[in-house]
Amino acid sequence: MKIQCRECNGKAIITSTNRLSCDFTRLYCTCRTAQCGHSFVMQLSYSHGLRPAANKLDQHLVEQMRELPPERLEALMNQLKAG
Ligand SMILES: [Zn+2]
Repeated sequence: MKIQCRECNGKAIITSTNRLSCDFTRLYCTCRTAQCGHSFVMQLSYSHGLRPAANKLDQHLVEQMRELPPERLEALMNQLKAG
């Protein structure tokens, strides 16, 4: 991950991290530009998923199928059987 210093636009590096939860981490950064040397904290947080994890896909599909009206579920099952 590229970190850019807001003071000089130079390249900064992550010197340490503090994972406060599975969704939120603080990144302690230091600018590598010698004349700047700004050190600062960035925050990294989980926003949202785009696709369920492979190990949760079955569960996700079952939950979605439960919300379908019976006739749509039947049509879907027939489609699956037809290949
Ligand atoms: Zn800088």
